[in-house]
Amino acid sequence: MSCIFCRIAAGEIPAEKLHDDGELFAVKDLNPAAPWHALIIPHAHVATILELGVENAPWVGRVYGIAAQLAREHGFGDAGYRVVANCNRDGGQTVFHVHFHVLAGRPMGWPPG
Ligand code: AMP
Ligand code: ZN
Repeated sequence: MSCIFCRIAAGEIPAEKLHDDGELFAVKDLNPAAPWHALIIPHAHVATILELGVENAPWVGRVYGIAAQLAREHGFGDAGYRVVANCNRDGGQTVFHVHFHVLAGRPMGWPPG
């Protein structure tokens, strides 16, 4: 199994999980792009958000609930945060297992780079 996030999901690579409900887990990003930066990742391997369809709606919807829970737990909800998924070359995706970045702790620029 070469996919890094599948290996974390399987416990082959140790990671400090901020959340794990068997379908979705969250870990701190290894190379943070903001003072607080985590990834919400499905256990199931899906390469890109381009592959998502209505059948994925339940867990995709839950991503935003988990992000809100993390925001409450870690105290950045009122200041605000950003949830973002990068897709393919122009989206800047580097790991081809779907994940949602949760970024907080500084003002996020708009438009994004
Ligand atoms: P993306 O560029 O949107 O595909 O995001 C991939 C993210 O995964 C980057 O922010 C990396 O820093 C992060 N990353 C890569 N390997 C690991 C790892 N082993 N644990 C946590 N985050 C990782
Ligand atoms: Zn994978």
